[in-house]
Amino acid sequence: MQNTFHQPVTSPILQTLDDPIFAQQNLSVQVLRTDLLHPVISGNKWMKLQPWLRLARHQNNSAIVTKGGPWSNHVHAASYTSHQEGLAFTAIIKAKDGMMTKTLEDVKNWGGDIVYTQNKLYKNEQHWQQFSNAQNALYIPMGGEGAEGEQGVAEFFNELLLSHYDYVICSIGTGTTLAGIAASNLPFDTLMGADPGIFDKNYEHLLNELQQKYSTKSLQIIADKSLEKFGKWPEFLPKKMNTWLAKWQLPTDIVYTAKMFYQFEQLVATGFFKPNSRILLIHTGGLQGNKSLPVGLLKT
Ligand SMILES: *Cc1c(COP(=O)(O)O)cnc(C)c1O
Repeated sequence: MQNTFHQPVTSPILQTLDDPIFAQQNLSVQVLRTDLLHPVISGNKWMKLQPWLRLARHQNNSAIVTKGGPWSNHVHAASYTSHQEGLAFTAIIKAKDGMMTKTLEDVKNWGGDIVYTQNKLYKNEQHWQQFSNAQNALYIPMGGEGAEGEQGVAEFFNELLLSHYDYVICSIGTGTTLAGIAASNLPFDTLMGADPGIFDKNYEHLLNELQQKYSTKSLQIIADKSLEKFGKWPEFLPKKMNTWLAKWQLPTDIVYTAKMFYQFEQLVATGFFKPNSRILLIHTGGLQGNKSLPVGLLKT
């Protein structure tokens, strides 16, 4: 087994964002750049995979099976990791037979197999669990979610030893990252999950559960219909992304983090944050997904 995956290549970087409107309101705004954790496995997928990998080693699995969409950051990260660890890899992809994307090209180049499924079979967890058991593979659910994924996020934040923030904001998909941050030692008052357009009815359930567990904290989910549904985006969003890159040297991904930064900007514009607040934005990575965009739309 190679050792390349066990430690981040660069340590996480806290970047301070300067802006006249932040100064006017006396807001201290920082970004935790977990997109810089690893050159390939960026952000929260890196964190979430750690306990899953430990489990695979512990069980002597010879392969990893997991699933996602054709541009999935998780599938991309899990495939690279399996390749590094000498494990076989199968991606269950929710798409028409044979569909190819830049993400799936990488999966193939790293020696992964792709199984295309749609609708009912894709969602059948029991089926994929059995499929995995039959080949001594560890089955990782979509997005690396579950207790292992949550633990990986909490472990990562526990090691950071950050100081207190009034607000912490992260993007949500399965909600595993949000739950992991809530479970960690990171000191904060309010944790906000920015919905990338999934509008999942289960979010309310998740939030209630977390709120009961961590009753001294405030937990919220924010959403903005003008940002369109998951995977889609309004024309103004790539323009915003170019502005942030020029202003702050801050790259964002169109699916998750750009939608989070936009919602954060809207909150600042409406005076949502108390003056003198300290705010931490979590950059969860996902930049490989920008390869889905027309060439030249994003400045580099
Ligand atoms: C997967 C992903 C998320 C969502 O994380 P969850 O733990 O599933 O909520 C957020 N941001 C980025 C960049 C992602 O790739």
